[in-house]
Amino acid sequence: MSEASTYQQLRSHLATLRLSAAAEALPQVLEDAKAMKLGPTALLERLLAIEVSATEQRRRASLERFASLPAPWRLEDFDFSAQPSVDESLVNELGTLSFLDDATNVLLIGPPGVGKTMLAIGLARASIDAGYRTYYTTAADLVARCHRAAIEGRWATTMRFFAGPRLLVIDEVGYLPLQSEAAAALFQVITQRYLKSSTVLTTNLGIASWGKIFDDPMVAAAMLDRLLHRSVVFNIDGESYRMRSHRARSEALRKGVIVGTEN
Ligand code: ADP
Ligand code: MG
Repeated sequence: MSEASTYQQLRSHLATLRLSAAAEALPQVLEDAKAMKLGPTALLERLLAIEVSATEQRRRASLERFASLPAPWRLEDFDFSAQPSVDESLVNELGTLSFLDDATNVLLIGPPGVGKTMLAIGLARASIDAGYRTYYTTAADLVARCHRAAIEGRWATTMRFFAGPRLLVIDEVGYLPLQSEAAAALFQVITQRYLKSSTVLTTNLGIASWGKIFDDPMVAAAMLDRLLHRSVVFNIDGESYRMRSHRARSEALRKGVIVGTEN
């Protein structure tokens, strides 16, 4: 076979195997190999490394799209000095993701604006970066999705969907009271993940008030039981971060006004 037809054959093999990054890089890699006098082993290694890195990049992009994080926050962005009730070393420990290994849950409890969503998303981001399948949903979206699934006869599929991710974030539990069907959906999601994979849950309601979210206090108790069995709980009782910066601004403004009148 002539060199030209061997080359065509090689391109066609790469296309058949769908190694498109390698196919695209082939002429350059061959040229480099000639210039640098690379042997066949080094040449093949270079070519396949290009394909491997393209595959890795596609996988990352798909994990990222799937996770549907609503904000780009990272744990490093969290200002611990503004929220002394959050244990920084505990957050950093969670950031290593060893909690995923034994399916530990994370509960973030506190009033609006204290950074619960930010911490939950920061953990989700770390999990995506480590290559784990991660998914973010609000409790309201989860419940609405399960409701549609029930109507359309896709309940089992939807439950499997929520069982799948290595880390599931359920944000804003407790903002809306959950009727029995909604409570059942959340309960089943928590139950099927119990001891298998971690869930990060944020809520504005202290554990003692969980009965209020659900029609049925037994469901609330059973759910809490599973969530707390192996868990890290943050009770964040500081003031809202946004209010804090508002206050700082208005204080600065007031000082400015006072200084202004003194002059
Ligand atoms: P929550 O979910 O508790 O209502 P969020 O996480 O949505 O609060 O935070 C509200 C806003 O304040 C967001 O813009 C968030 O980035 C910011 N924020 C809250 N706490 C902190 C913090 N400790 N450091 C930096 N930004 C914060
Ligand atoms: Mg929030």
